[in-house]
Amino acid sequence: MDRDNILLTPGPLTTTLRTKLAMLKDWGSWDTDFNALTARVRGELLDILHARDSHVLVPLQGSGTFSVEAAVATVVPRDGHLLVLDNGAYCKRMGRLASLMGRRTTIASRSEEAPVDPQELERLLLEDPSISHVGLIHCETGTGIVNPLAEIAEVCERLGRGLIVDAMSSFAALPIDARALRFDALIAASGKCLEGVPGMGFVFIRKAIVDGCAGNSHSLAMDLHDQHAYMERTGQWRFTPPTHVVAALAEALSQYREEGGQAARLARYQANQRVLVEGLAALGLQTFLKPELLSPIILTFRAPEHADYDFKAFYASAKAQGFMLYPGKLTEVETFRVGCIGAIGPKEMQQAVDAIARALQGMGVRAAAA
Ligand SMILES: *Cc1c(COP(=O)(O)O)cnc(C)c1O
Repeated sequence: MDRDNILLTPGPLTTTLRTKLAMLKDWGSWDTDFNALTARVRGELLDILHARDSHVLVPLQGSGTFSVEAAVATVVPRDGHLLVLDNGAYCKRMGRLASLMGRRTTIASRSEEAPVDPQELERLLLEDPSISHVGLIHCETGTGIVNPLAEIAEVCERLGRGLIVDAMSSFAALPIDARALRFDALIAASGKCLEGVPGMGFVFIRKAIVDGCAGNSHSLAMDLHDQHAYMERTGQWRFTPPTHVVAALAEALSQYREEGGQAARLARYQANQRVLVEGLAALGLQTFLKPELLSPIILTFRAPEHADYDFKAFYASAKAQGFMLYPGKLTEVETFRVGCIGAIGPKEMQQAVDAIARALQGMGVRAAAA
């Protein structure tokens, strides 16, 4: 096969040739050309959220989790108290990184099969005035469920608490408008729905709180206040930037605009999701979440209940046909995940469905209700 394997994962994901080709150039990190590229990317990211008036955009080297960790370290004061609403693995991760850095942390763990509940949040916040910040995962990639961002933001604003949103897997695909909801920090990364390559995250920080964040971070490299101040002063990144990743992201952003921005990207991912759900349903495979809770980002499927089913063999067979699946992340039920995001469309998704059908057939796992 002369085409790259297609990544049906939530990042890294399949990128276009144009995006890959943008990396065939070396940039000087101090050079004005690269500074201009950084400035352009920062401005375009602010535009996606309509956040030029309300927020600053601080990029950070590393995978997405580095930026979540940096956002918590920078925004939550050392004597603050973070409440994490937990309905999945990435929620637990935010809680863990906050407690490891010594922030007082409460994790409200609930079912993975339902969105977090704004009314319950209101009750928790009224009960405990020491909670200064709320951590929310917008699309919980562990299952694919989307949490009610606007409602949660409304409760936080009304009760005067800060909100930190991990929008890693939803940013640029699901609509988020900074003019319509208030958040202190929102985190995303280059290698998710923008279809860039992995290697940098970025955090939108509310302008009204940026200056007050000085000195919060326990860590030099994770200090987004410092990263922002340095970048404003010099136009440069504080430490070695991921130059090729920034260049690829700039190219990916151009394609994002050409495609039609957030609405067009969402429509393509929704089309991918429909092909996937219908195709796998015809093979007898069911989603873990109820149909009305499925996101166009990533889907969790229950593994076939068949003695001959084995994820490793299933994965190997799909890979041999050019498609990379993703393991499940649930402890109670055996599942596997399939991403709908990346530079792919319904045609590639149909090919993926066909590959999955052949993989199951090859294992002797017959479709339950074809
Ligand atoms: C991908 C992702 C992250 C970041 O994961 P990394 O492996 O560190 O890039 C964080 N939160 C969510 C919801 C994600 O989907």
